[in-house]
Amino acid sequence: MNPIFSALQTSVFEVMSQLARETGAVNLGQGFPDDPGPEDVRRKAAEAVISGWNQYPPMMGLPELRHATAAHYKRWQGLDLDAETEIMVTSGATEAIAGALMALITPGDEVVLFEPMYDAYVPLVRRAGGIPKFVTLTPPAFGLTEAALAAAFSPKTRVVLFNNPLNPTATIFSDADLDLLADFCIRHDAVAICDEVWEHVVFDGRRHVPMLSRPGMRERTVKISSAGKIFSLTGWKVGLVMAAPPLMRVLAKAHQYITFTTPPNLQAAVAYGLGKDDSYFEGMRSDFQRSRDRFTEGLRGLGFSVLPSVGTYFLNVYIAPLGELDDVDFCRRLVMENGVAAIPVSAFYAQGAVKTVVRFCFAKRDATLDAALERLADRK
Ligand code: GLN
Repeated sequence: MNPIFSALQTSVFEVMSQLARETGAVNLGQGFPDDPGPEDVRRKAAEAVISGWNQYPPMMGLPELRHATAAHYKRWQGLDLDAETEIMVTSGATEAIAGALMALITPGDEVVLFEPMYDAYVPLVRRAGGIPKFVTLTPPAFGLTEAALAAAFSPKTRVVLFNNPLNPTATIFSDADLDLLADFCIRHDAVAICDEVWEHVVFDGRRHVPMLSRPGMRERTVKISSAGKIFSLTGWKVGLVMAAPPLMRVLAKAHQYITFTTPPNLQAAVAYGLGKDDSYFEGMRSDFQRSRDRFTEGLRGLGFSVLPSVGTYFLNVYIAPLGELDDVDFCRRLVMENGVAAIPVSAFYAQGAVKTVVRFCFAKRDATLDAALERLADRK
């Protein structure tokens, strides 16, 4: 048995969702929307299952999806990507991350990670033979400093893997942060693997800035996105990978021996969806933003100290002002005694830096949020 994986606990998302199912709790833990996602996109998938191609699609993805991806990122982020040589479809962003790490890391290479981080990163880095080097971001701003980067990067740095917008912090790296990080990548000849799945879920008029567009990064960035977050269809697992041809050629080798392809019917539906007009994307942002505001207000009304959320499905609260110093224990009691599932943010820190922040998913219908608030109001 591989000790890296056998020593791991079950993912906090699965644990909390399972507990929520068992206890009938309102599940604001694992991040997924209540709403079923755009009907026209789902209908396209259904049509493609019934009357389309259901055998292996091309290994790199359906040509129509690769072309739709190039057009989408030209329109939204001004990127010039060649559909033939710079775009690949994977079975979700997590496959893309796993494949990129396998493809780019030689055992002993160092990988810079920003904690708190998505729980899959460290096990995947380790299994690829990489040595994680952490930059610790702390609340309330979860900001980046040059000193922290200087301490994490070394001549052995091969990759920096990060999420932007960031789950679970609900923050976004500024242009200055990206350029600072770019400068470190260039000086250390490192590749940036950018998990940008939340790029469309940004609030208050913000626009996502991809690392790929920053000076000097075009040839050393792997950009990863996912239909799950673009269309609020988190179970679909259709990932989009973008990188310059020399990088893409190696990434494709990893993909070829992991999943090889991704269901063609879902790919056809995603190709259609990426061409939806701006109003769909603006509508999604404003709907989530409204839910964020509703839930923030409700929590503040109950005396919770809420941290700012500028993107993702999440917001965080400080629990220390409630006299609580252990987020895991707090979340366990919250689900068992109050019937609300949330995620302890310490699960996303590798080194135990922060234990008093709890993450809630607000990407829910008003009735769900209100039911959670009612239960929280009864908290003893
Ligand atoms: N991305 C989702 C979250 O952060 C969870 C995905 C998963 O369950 N692994 O809640």
